[in-house]
Amino acid sequence: MHLPTVIMVALAINFIVGVYLYLLYRRKPKDRCFKLWSFSCVCFVLGSGLVVLRYYPFPEVLTFFIADSLLLLAPLYVLAGLVQFSRFRYTKRRRRQAFAALAFTLLVLLASYQQPGLISVAVALAIGITFCLCALLLQRSVITEPSFSRTLQIVFIVHALVMFGQAALIMFNWQQLNMHGLPETSIYTLLSHILLTTFTALLLPWLSFLKLERKLTLRSQRDGLTRLANREHFFNQIERYWQQHPSIPAVLMMIDIDFFKGVNDTFGHAVGDRAIALVAKLLSKQLRSNDIIGRIGGEEYAALLIDIDEQTALRISERLCQQVAAQLQYIDDAKVELTISIGMVHVVPAQHKHTAAFKIADEALYASKQAGRNTVTLGKLNTV
Ligand code: GH3
Ligand code: MG
Ligand code: MG
Repeated sequence: MHLPTVIMVALAINFIVGVYLYLLYRRKPKDRCFKLWSFSCVCFVLGSGLVVLRYYPFPEVLTFFIADSLLLLAPLYVLAGLVQFSRFRYTKRRRRQAFAALAFTLLVLLASYQQPGLISVAVALAIGITFCLCALLLQRSVITEPSFSRTLQIVFIVHALVMFGQAALIMFNWQQLNMHGLPETSIYTLLSHILLTTFTALLLPWLSFLKLERKLTLRSQRDGLTRLANREHFFNQIERYWQQHPSIPAVLMMIDIDFFKGVNDTFGHAVGDRAIALVAKLLSKQLRSNDIIGRIGGEEYAALLIDIDEQTALRISERLCQQVAAQLQYIDDAKVELTISIGMVHVVPAQHKHTAAFKIADEALYASKQAGRNTVTLGKLNTV
């Protein structure tokens, strides 16, 4: 393995990935993380380039202080990008602490740049700590699929260990340091640092695909008007519930807006759409976050209330009817006097198929319509 070649190839890869990340950012300027990561790659390439100039008569402030600051900025930009990507909320105090830590580190580098050993230790420790913070951040935020997060986390931890190892190596060999402030034996830690940086740079663009995939998946599962689960996603969730929780009782509800055709005909489709969205909002607000709610037709919704008894569910449904009637008398000045009808059934998944539960809830809804609407009917499944 020819070391200069390996280093040149690694730097070239970092540069190309940096340009690629910047292009990703230009396409989607809202994703600032890609800009920060592209800066990280560029800092690494420039910093390494300046290190090479140490062999020539250039000022030390350039080849040591600026070079090492750039090499330190590279992981800091990775960290900043991760903060952006995971939408991690940081307080003003955190931000002030971060700036103070950065200013302190730069001061240490400035004070020690004429002592290669000292600046090398400081940079190695600072880079190690930054990668520990990156790993910690990934632990706290569920940013993507777990296996990918885990891989990235391992890379960060290994990288931090390599940098701490490098700092220890320099301190143990303080008497025999070369012009870079490194012992000859640190060549492997240095090489690992370059390879791990390159590996991280290659992993980062992958996050963009995962992000897009997650966005498209979420969009394909939601109904555009109400943001509730669409019909397909709702039934998929129900099937999953039947498989995963066969013994936890639930109540299946079918909800339908009354005389909705009349709302459209009298007040127009725009008011009709608002009505559909407002009923959905009220349902989401009143039911619990672990209940499954969906829009399964034009003005029809369904909900599975989890781990609940019949009487409580009945009270919730009656309250829903009352709230719609009370809160949706008017929509944008139009006197729509909206009401809903509900059909429901109590079910234990292990005892009945979900199709049977839907059939009974639908019949109960029909009974509510027959009974004059704005009412709730409780259907019964045959015991087996
Ligand atoms: P009932 O009380 O028996 O439920 O009568 P209804 O008029 O509510 O029921 P019907 O099934 O006759 O009419 C439903 C109407 O809902 C017909 C359709 O044009 C309208 N609709 C379906 N989807 C949408 C939508 O997304 N937006 C609007 N504005 N209207 C919709
Ligand atoms: Mg209707
Ligand atoms: Mg209907």
